[in-house]
This record gives sequence, C-alpha cells and structure tokens, in this order.
Amino acid sequence: MMRPIGEMQAGILDAMPLLDEVRVDFDGAIGSVLSRPVDARENLPGFDNAAVDGFAVVSSDVAEIPVELDVVDDIAAGCIPAAVVTTGTASRIMTGAPVPAGADAIIPVEDVEIPGEDRVRILVSGSPGDNIRPAGGSVREGDRVFDAGLRLEATHVSVLASMGIRPLVRRRPIVAIMSTGDELVPPSTAVLDPGLIRDSNRTLIKGRLAELGAEVLDLGIVPDDAAAFGSALDEAVAHADAIVTSGGVSMGAYDVVKMTLRERGTVEFLRVAMQPGKPLGFGAVDGVPFFGLPGNPVSVFVSFEQFVRPALLSMMGAERLFRDRVPGILDDGVTTNPEKTVFVRVTTDRGPDGVWHARRSGGQSSNVLSALAFADALAVVPVGTGRVEPGGSIELEMMRWPEARTREEALGAR
Ligand code: AMP
Ligand code: MG
Repeated sequence: MMRPIGEMQAGILDAMPLLDEVRVDFDGAIGSVLSRPVDARENLPGFDNAAVDGFAVVSSDVAEIPVELDVVDDIAAGCIPAAVVTTGTASRIMTGAPVPAGADAIIPVEDVEIPGEDRVRILVSGSPGDNIRPAGGSVREGDRVFDAGLRLEATHVSVLASMGIRPLVRRRPIVAIMSTGDELVPPSTAVLDPGLIRDSNRTLIKGRLAELGAEVLDLGIVPDDAAAFGSALDEAVAHADAIVTSGGVSMGAYDVVKMTLRERGTVEFLRVAMQPGKPLGFGAVDGVPFFGLPGNPVSVFVSFEQFVRPALLSMMGAERLFRDRVPGILDDGVTTNPEKTVFVRVTTDRGPDGVWHARRSGGQSSNVLSALAFADALAVVPVGTGRVEPGGSIELEMMRWPEARTREEALGAR
C-alpha cells in the first residue's frame, strides 16, 4: 500500500521535536523563527517629531497667510529643543527632530521665505498635527508586534532593531547530509571513469538548506558499504539535529541505507503515493530525525520540498511550513498516474489575462535535472486525476516567483 502524501507529511510533522530557544543578535536573527511573541516595550517613535525639514509653529498663527514669525531656535535631529514656541514665534526644525513644546504643526521649508535673520515668512497655512509624526504612531507601547512562529526577514528584524529588542528564536537546525552510492564521485571530477557519475544531490540539498538558514554537517559521499554508512551515521547522530541522506532506499541489491537501518534506529521504508519521490525512509536514528531520500536528483528535490523543508521549519517553530500554491492553467496538459500525487516541473508566466500559465519545463523523468532547473513551480496533479487537458486548471506550488524583469520589460525600450 502506498502512503498518501498528506498522511506522510502529517506523520513527519508530528514526530518533529522543537529546537531550543536562544536569544540572538539582530544581524544573526534573519531566517530564524520567533519562539515568543514580541510586544512593544515603548512607543515608536518615542517622541513627536518632524516629518519634514521646516518650521515648527503654533498652527493658529498660520491659519491666515502670509504671516511673519520670529525664529527662536534651530533644532537638528538628535537635539533637544531649547525654546518653547509661543504665538508669534517659530523654531527651525529638521526631519526627525523632537517637536518643541508649544508647537503643533511643521510648515515645510519649501512653503516659507526667509526675509531676514531670525525671521520666517509662512506662505502656506497649516493645521494642528501637520507634518508631525506622533509618538506611538508606528507602534504603541504594549502592542503585540509579532506573533511567535514568524520567520524573520530583514524587514521584521529592522522593526526589532528599532525597538532595541534582541529576539528569542529557536536555534537553527544542524543537518547532517550525505550522498550514498558507489557510482558517485565529487562534482569537481574532470573526467569520469566508466559507470561513474558526479554527485549533484549534495549541492542541491545544501542550497535548499542554506535557504532555510540551517547549518550543514557535510558527511560527503558514502560508498554502498554498511560499515562506511554506519560510521557516517555515528558522526551524524553525535552532532546533528536531523539527518538527510540520498540514495539507497529503494529495491536495489546494494541499497545500503535501507539494509543498515533495518538493524539500527526506528526508520520505516515506505512507498509514498507521489511522483517523483515514491521511496522514502523516515524515522529516527538514536533519537535524531532521519530522512532517507531517494537517489534520483529530481526525486531528492521534490521529497526535500515536501517532507524535509516543512519538517525543519517545524523544528524551528515556524507557523507557516508549506510553500504557497496559486491556481493556474497548464497550457500543454499532462497525463499522470492517477494513483499518485504528481509534481510536474513547469515554467510559469502570467498571461495578458493576469492568470498564471504553466508549461512542462522539459522531460519529466526523475533524473532530468535540467527540467528542474528551468522550473519555477511544481504543478500538482492530485491522486485520482490522471489527466489534465491542455488549458486545464491546476494548482501551482511556486518555488520561486518569476518576477525578475529585464530593463526593457521594466522601463520600456531604451
Ligand atoms: P539509488 O536510489 O541509490 O538506486 O539511486 C537512484 C538513482 O539516482 C541512480 O541512478 C543513482 O545513480 C542516482 N543518484 C544517487 N545518488 C546520486 C547523487 N548524489 N547525485 C546524482 N545522482 C544520484
Ligand atoms: Mg544507490
């Protein structure tokens, strides 16, 4: 019996431990997940301040214009006002400087003339609050700013930085990776001996792990040999929070991962109702979550996306675990095995109708890496479907947004 993919994903997520909490510095926080909600400890901005360079005035003074006022102070950003603004007076003020007591509006410098030293002529009227950024206008003390489970991007961390809050996050997972197979040689191998292939899976997995902010423990290429695989596992369980292998989990005579883990750990070798990526080993070795991915590179990719990525995000405490899906049209149609959820590698673009259109990005065999590289999305054909006609509707799991535009596309012809 093949396991439905959703059931497999649920089982994996249920088995994932949560990594420890750590407090991290701002720059190091990007890519980590908040373990606690963040509440503001102070107002942001902390004080009323000028939104423009100009003159702080009493707004009732400038209801009728033009009007001339005495300039009593000059307030740069970072300074404390030295004078109170009273009727008939104004203070020159720079963007971000504290609004002086008495003033309730800032007249932009573009809307005044300077008739003489310490005098300003206001040419445009103002009302209370004009060009003032009020204290707490961005964030109020006590406000819930971010919920736990948020994966921090630079924009989020900049908010934390503005509040001086070093966040509590979950530690990033250390992930041990290895490629198994007697046929594998390092990618730097210039000339291949007969029957050998370059190991591309580790490069792929490392890239995906980097995107997640995981730390990689690279155990290299492991031959199809029980002793070698066993010692690589020893190294992995000693240091890693999760183990990801490729190869050796299907029905072959030398499937070392499968054979070794019959005697060690609690890893189940399953057939998932999906394509590519049907064979999968999942469980724990000495308590460390273990993912035995298939060997074929495209299967590795899809299995990583469907199982490992959500699992690691879950360990990191993330609320959102799965990539977004958008409805689209499969222009060229596809016939699939109706017993499986099939992930079709597709390129996408948004048609003049504003709808996402997808086409197969190349051969759909699980060894065709190039079609994967050209793909923007996985078009998901669910179990029980079997065929999508050309122009038929489909869900697109976006792996990247093909939004990058050329100069001509963005700005028109030169
Ligand atoms: P296996 O599941 O070990 O039988 O591997 C399935 C297929 O994937 C075989 O054709 C392998 O040569 C290929 N393969 C396994 N590991 C890698 C790897 N690290 N890089 C590229 N291809 C691989
Ligand atoms: Mg193999």
